[in-house]
Formats: sequence, structure tokens, C-alpha cells
Amino acid sequence: MRTYQLLIDGQFVDAADGRTFESVNPFDGATIARVALAGSADADRAVAAARKAFDEGPWPRMSHAERSGAIKKLVDAINARAPELIDLEVADSGSTVRKAKEDIGLSARNLNYFARLAAQPLDGEVEGLSKPGFSKNLLCWEPVGVVAGIIPWNFPLKMAIWKLGPALAAGNTVVLKPSENTPVTAMELARMIVDAGFPPGVVNIIPGYGAGAGEALVKHPMVDKVSFTGSTAVGRKVMALASETLKKITLECGGKSANIVLDDADLDLAVDGALYAIFYHQGQCCEAGSRLLLPASIHDHFVERMVAKVRRMRVGDPSDPATEIGPLVSDAQRQRVLGYIRSGVEQGATIVTGGKVPADPAVSRGYFVEPTIFTGVSNSMTIAREEIFGPVLSVLSYRTIDEAVSIANDSPYGLGGGVWSKDPERAMSVARRLRTGTVWINEWHLISEKAPFGGYKQSGIGREFGVEGVKEYCEAKHLHIDEVGVRSKKFWYDVVVPKDQ
Ligand code: NAD
Repeated sequence: MRTYQLLIDGQFVDAADGRTFESVNPFDGATIARVALAGSADADRAVAAARKAFDEGPWPRMSHAERSGAIKKLVDAINARAPELIDLEVADSGSTVRKAKEDIGLSARNLNYFARLAAQPLDGEVEGLSKPGFSKNLLCWEPVGVVAGIIPWNFPLKMAIWKLGPALAAGNTVVLKPSENTPVTAMELARMIVDAGFPPGVVNIIPGYGAGAGEALVKHPMVDKVSFTGSTAVGRKVMALASETLKKITLECGGKSANIVLDDADLDLAVDGALYAIFYHQGQCCEAGSRLLLPASIHDHFVERMVAKVRRMRVGDPSDPATEIGPLVSDAQRQRVLGYIRSGVEQGATIVTGGKVPADPAVSRGYFVEPTIFTGVSNSMTIAREEIFGPVLSVLSYRTIDEAVSIANDSPYGLGGGVWSKDPERAMSVARRLRTGTVWINEWHLISEKAPFGGYKQSGIGREFGVEGVKEYCEAKHLHIDEVGVRSKKFWYDVVVPKDQ
């Protein structure tokens, strides 16, 4: 079994009160790691280290090339240890090995993008303001300061990188709090950060519970920005707590994304696409296509085809490359998902496949739920309104495109969406009407580090990725440089200050 300490100020240390917690394998319940449990005293220590590193240390003052080089070293370390990180991600989070391979590869690729951005200053002139002989006006993008990054369990290493990459590229120092469910790869990253020679205090990693270390970070007066990814309910709390000190915030929260199949869709593609949209990582994706909107004319045929495929999905050991559906992250998550399934039945929807814990004894120790499809769902049912975060698809039927768009937009969320059609113009006209941060046409789940990603409405505030994503970790400073020089030519010459006699 592995053991991990907190990373604070470049040192691995125990929690101030000596507490630890266990991280378990969601496939068989085996303990895979014992981890120091950070509390509010540890959050204080980590913030103090990050503050000192920001105010006095070399990181924010390094050249762009030096900062970029340090981040690049971390990319190389992740690539070098990829096979081990893949195995750890599978054991800690229940991710299938197929998904974990993608995640670790993407973690390195995403971080490499930020290493490249770190090499280029974002500063430039304020557009249209500089006037020779009057002034030069510069727009400087400066690091915001100490950033608290708080992340969920569904993509453990990738979420850590999504916080560290842009924050470090912009010159900030960071305290990262991984999820209590999946601390292992973040703590391996901590080792790589120390080995890569990052100055002490630039990155501090403190796994702990939300109510302990999490809240302490959000409320801390020396933290300048909170970048949170997690549920909308906790996002709301984070926003309220951060408001006491008027911190900058980025919130990447939940979703209930509508996947709209048009009547001219390529059905081979759309059936597989709809299954991929919801069942990838057992539905534990913020952007999961959890509401499927089908035209009444093809509804029954489409559902029959999906059900036939779902019954052939391989549910099992996530470390087996043949497995398509692994366990959920925890028993608590499984109970939440089963509760939603019960509510769907109680409110009158019909289960056409799944709906239970699998009977197969080979998976009896894991936190499994069968891939489940509900039909006869109305958009007012709980299973259409709330994020289930499990392998549960709600199918809704529509008659006109206006009705489909109206159902899709009738949601407190606005993270992802999709349109399936053979006619690109028709698909585009629907896509433009969806009130969400990302829309895929004949595709799903593709998130590129080059394009801003985030949510409308209660799916979040701010964007990750792209240059916009780095600017979220910056303050914009306007630098006005006078070129008039002579007092008598100043526009304020006779406004306030008495003229010389
Ligand atoms: P969660 O909201 O329960 O927890 C997220 C993180 O917040 C964890 O580290 C947790 O310890 C911490 N936390 C909990 N309470 C806190 C508090 N009071 N103060 C400070 N921190 C606190 O979410 P989860 O169950 O870990 O993850 C699933 C959620 O994450 C889903 O809603 C999913 O949609 C969302 N998510 C969103 C994105 C996105 O980019 N929009 C990406 C991945 C996951």
C-alpha cells in the first residue's frame, strides 16, 4: 500500500493533527493508499507558503522562457511515468483502463499547451488608445497571486493539470486540493513537481475534505482566486464563501446536456454517439449527454437499437482492456444514482434496460450500476432536471425542432450539447440556438485545450483552456505612459492645479 504526505513549501509533511485517510479501489474495495488528511491548519500553512513564494520567490519574476521550461519538465515527467499513472488512476478512481490511457495522455498534452503559452507574454497595447505625442497605453496581464484549486474525482490527474497549467503559466502560486475520493495521482504529481525542481511553495498539494481544507482555502484572506471544479451545489457555496473577501472565482460545475438527434441523422453514427455521450466513464462526466431528444418518428427504432447495444456492453474489471463499463467512484455515489433511478420510476418513466446493481458475482464487491435507459421521460421529471452523474440516460421525444430547442434550453444548466444530422447547415442552425458553452455536431466529449471550455447558466462562471483560460488567472493592468511631457500642454493644465504666475 502506498503512503502519501502533504506537499507544503517544497516538503512532504504530515497533517498538523496527524490524521490520515484511506483511498480505496472502487472495483473491489481494497485500500490502495493511506494519505495525510489536510485540515484547516494545513490549509493555513500551505497558503502561507504559496503567499511567500508569490510575494518574495522567483516564480512570478522568472522570464517566460524559464517558467515555460519548468512546466515542460513536468510534462516530460508525466510522459515518462505514464504506464504507472494509468494503473494508479484505474485503481483509485474506477476509470476503465481505456479511459485512463486517454486521460494521462491528455494530461501531458494539456500541460504542454500551457508550457507553450507560458513562453509568450500576453502583454500588448490597448487597442486604439495609444497616440504618439500624447501617450502609449499598454495592457499587462499580471498573475492574480495565490490560487486555490479545488477539484473533483472524475478525471483526477487531468483536473489537477487543468488548474495547475494555466495558473502556473500566468505566474501564480497554487494550493491544490484534490478530491478525498481520488488523491493518488495528484500526490504522484507532487513528487514529480519536487523532482522537477519547482521553487518551494509554488505548488502545494493538500488532499482533504471539502468542509475542512476546502472551506478553509475558499475563506482564506491571503488567497486571491479560487478555481473550483465540482457540483453546482458546492459551487454555489464556494461563491458565497469567497464573496466575503471578494475573491476572483472560476466555477466549472455540473451539467444536464441535451443531445438532439434530427430526423435526417446517420443512425449508425447517432446511436453509437448517443451511447458514448452518456456511458463514457459510467456517466460521471460533467458534459455527459444525459438527456437524449429523439424525433417521435424515429424514437422507437432508435431506442431498440440502443438497448440492443447496451445489453452487449462489457461491465467488469476496469483494469481489463475489454471492459467498457467500470464501477462508480464510491458506494455513496452508487446510492445517489440508485436513488435517482427510483425517482424516475416513481415519477412515471419506464426503464427499458438496466436500472439495477448487476447480478454478476464477478463485480459484486465493486460500486456498479447497470447502464440504464429511461423512456417516457418528461422534462419536468427529476431525472431530466438534475445531474445524476451515473450511467443513466433519460430519453425524451419531440415533434418539432422548436420544441427540441425549447426542451434543451429548459434547464438550469448550460454546459454541453449535441446535434446529429447529415445536413451541416440544419445542424448548425440548431447548435446556435442552444444556450450552452460547447455544442458538438455529430460528435461528443471532444474538449481541446485550444478552445475555451465552460458553462452558461448554473454550469459555471468563467472558462478553462485557450488564451482566455490563462487570462482567468490574471489581473489586467492598464499602463498609461505619458508622451506629452510639458505641463502647459496637459489637458488638465487649467482644471485643478493653480497655474504658475
Ligand atoms: P463536489 O462538488 O462534491 O466536490 C468537488 C470538490 O469540492 C472536492 O474536492 C470536494 O472536496 C470539494 N468541496 C466539497 N465541499 C466543499 C466546500 N464546502 N468548500 C470547498 N470545497 C468543497 O463534486 P464531485 O462529486 O467531487 O464531482 C462531481 C461534480 O463535478 C459533478 O457535478 C460534475 O459535473 C462536476 N465537474 C464539472 C466539470 C466542469 O468542467 N464543468 C468537470 C468535472 C466535474
